[in-house]
Amino acid sequence: DTLMPSQAGLVVGRFGQHADVEDEQGKVHRCNMRRNISSVVCGDQVLFRPGKDQTLTVSGVIEAVEDRKSVLTRPDYYDGIKPVAANIDQIIVVSAVVPALSLNIIDRYLVAAEDVHIEPIILLNKVDMLDEQQHKEVQEQLALYRDIGYRVLLVSCKSGQGMDELAALLKDKTSVFVGQSGVGKSSLINQLLPDAEEAIGDISDNSGLGQHTTTAAKLLRFPGGGSLIDSPGVREFSLWHLPEGRLTWGFIEFREFLGGCKFRDCKHRDDPGCLLRDAVGTGQISQQRFDSYHKILAGMAEQRPSYSKPP
Ligand code: GDP
Repeated sequence: DTLMPSQAGLVVGRFGQHADVEDEQGKVHRCNMRRNISSVVCGDQVLFRPGKDQTLTVSGVIEAVEDRKSVLTRPDYYDGIKPVAANIDQIIVVSAVVPALSLNIIDRYLVAAEDVHIEPIILLNKVDMLDEQQHKEVQEQLALYRDIGYRVLLVSCKSGQGMDELAALLKDKTSVFVGQSGVGKSSLINQLLPDAEEAIGDISDNSGLGQHTTTAAKLLRFPGGGSLIDSPGVREFSLWHLPEGRLTWGFIEFREFLGGCKFRDCKHRDDPGCLLRDAVGTGQISQQRFDSYHKILAGMAEQRPSYSKPP
């Protein structure tokens, strides 16, 4: 037998047919997976058998995956929905004040996070670009989110503003950063994890049949405690696959009004006896969020799911 006895490990890297598993002493073992295991992703707690011959590139085998307390998913050409990361405590929804703050885009990410039952945190980056008046306006726009119970962080990775608060939030948690391109995710991650450079992205997996390049996912540790799971797939996380009902539920302040409308199939538009619209009337739901909901709904009707391309 070329393998040592089973032990517990944490998946800290995932690419191609392999996974890097960290044992309880912090040593990393490159592993294959038993065929009966359907999927292994970064953040998974696994049972694995390290290889005896540590000079081999791939020496261990993952035998079982523990139940996940949460899982982030994305669309996949073959499987419909594919897990990309596991056991995440919080999703940092990154957006930026330039070129413009889009509350609708923030809402989309919040809904997607609610749908996977992972706490989202709103991070607004590039606040160094705001003058005092604009800063005040942004604060006012975001007060809405604080009122409904979300944590909101104003940050600049250029000036350093808010970065200590961010580091404190990340401590002892497993987080992911999501958001559109250009909002500053890489900049934030590079600042929080100076050694992360080159850790994420395309790496070469040359231990299989012929050399090919695959997209890697990594679990990285913050110097002050806590970890980050990152990969292109993680960053692309969005709500493409939600059915209507789950979209409505994803607006957390709508929940208490759901199920009570006069008509069972209430579209929450002009329907008589709509409790959501009544709540907008009384100020219990903001017009802003109500409009945002309808905008997302309209977009979903038009859009077909965009599956990621097969390799
Ligand atoms: P990503 O696509 O989300 O990873 O965004 P990047 O980290 O690549 O950042 C996009 C651009 O925004 C880069 O030119 C960064 O230098 C710039 N940027 C990032 N953070 C800040 C910030 O806090 N303030 C300003 N002014 N620019 C920033």
